Amino acid sequence: MLDGEILEPFRCTGCGECCRWTGSVLLNNGDISRLAAHLAISEQAFIDDHTRLAPSRIQLALLDQKNGSCSFLDSDRCSIYEARPEQCRTFPYAWNVSEGCPPLDALLADKTD
Ligand code: SF4
Repeated sequence: MLDGEILEPFRCTGCGECCRWTGSVLLNNGDISRLAAHLAISEQAFIDDHTRLAPSRIQLALLDQKNGSCSFLDSDRCSIYEARPEQCRTFPYAWNVSEGCPPLDALLADKTD
């Protein structure tokens, strides 16, 4: 996990790179309620149409596109940005990110200079 002090200047540029990474966008109860309301559908309809069981089998995750991108990534932009899941809101805090996020890579390169 990355150090909070190092991450303080981090600013997401909205490039969508992390939304293309394979893996699970895990959902908590609040995410499901917020996203269902944002899409104006019932929570059950959201679960049925937009989620899958995560590999851990104890949590739901957003569906993926065939290429592994998040199903809500639309032309490099998050189509549900205002209501995005907690996991996306807290990126890159609490993530195990080594490289691949342009502003984070630049920040880490500055710290090693
Ligand atoms: S919900 Fe939005 S921010 Fe989160 S991975 Fe999907 S497209 Fe990216």
